[in-house]
Amino acid sequence: MPHKESVHTSYFYKKNVYCKVLLSDLTMRNICVFCASSLGDNEIYAQTARTVGKMLAENGIQLIYGGGNVGLMGQLAQTVLAHGGQVTGVIPEFLIRKEDASLTLTELIVVDTMHARKTRMAELSDGFMTLPGGFGTMDELCEILTWAQLGLHDKPIGILNVNYYYNPLLQLFDHMVQEKLLRKENRDMILVDTNPLTLLKKMYQYHPPVVEQWLRKEQV
Ligand code: AMP
Repeated sequence: MPHKESVHTSYFYKKNVYCKVLLSDLTMRNICVFCASSLGDNEIYAQTARTVGKMLAENGIQLIYGGGNVGLMGQLAQTVLAHGGQVTGVIPEFLIRKEDASLTLTELIVVDTMHARKTRMAELSDGFMTLPGGFGTMDELCEILTWAQLGLHDKPIGILNVNYYYNPLLQLFDHMVQEKLLRKENRDMILVDTNPLTLLKKMYQYHPPVVEQWLRKEQV
C-alpha cells in the first residue's frame, strides 16, 4: 500500500476521555468492517461496535459494510451516521428485508449474490476490520485473507479482539502454522488488538509481505 506522508490530527474516544492522535497516512479513506448480524450476549460487543463507528466518523473514514440494520452491523452503521460520517452498504437483494436495509446511508449498493457483495466491499475498501461475529463474519474474514495470501490485494486486515473473543481462532491460526499448513508470513499478515484505536493505527502502518501472485483477479 502506498504511504503518502501527511499528518492528520484527530480525536479518539478512549476510556471516557478524548485523546488527540496523529495519523500519518490519509490514504485509508474507506474501511470495510465485518461483524455479526446478531448482538451477542454481552453488551461489550455492541458498545465496541459503537466505539468503532464513532472512531471512523470522527476520522473522516467511510464505513463500507453489509448494508443491514441488524445486530452489531446496525449498531456500527447507526453510530457512524449519528456522528455525521459516511456509510456505504452492499447488500444482496434477497437480504434487504432479512437484514433490514432501512437506514438512510450515503449509498446502498444492491447486488445479486453473496459473492458479489464480498467482491464489491473489497473493491471499495482500503482496509478490513473484523469485529466479533459468526459464520458470515468468518466467511468474509477468511475470504479476504485468502485473497491477500494469493496476492490479489495488499490491504491491511485487522481483528479487533475485544473481550478476547478471537483467542480460540488465533490459537487455531498458530496451530496451522505449527502443523505447516499455513505459512508464517501469511499468519503474520493478520493485525490484532483489543483496542480499536491501536488496531486502526496498526492498519495505517501496515507493510504487506512480498508474496508471489498465484492468480489474476479475473481468474478467481
Ligand atoms: P454473521 O457473522 O453470521 O452474523 O454474519 C455477518 C454478516 O455476514 C451478515 O450480513 C451476513 O449476511 C454476511 N454473510 C454471511 N455469509 C456471507 C457470504 N458468503 N458472503 C458475504 N456476506 C456474507
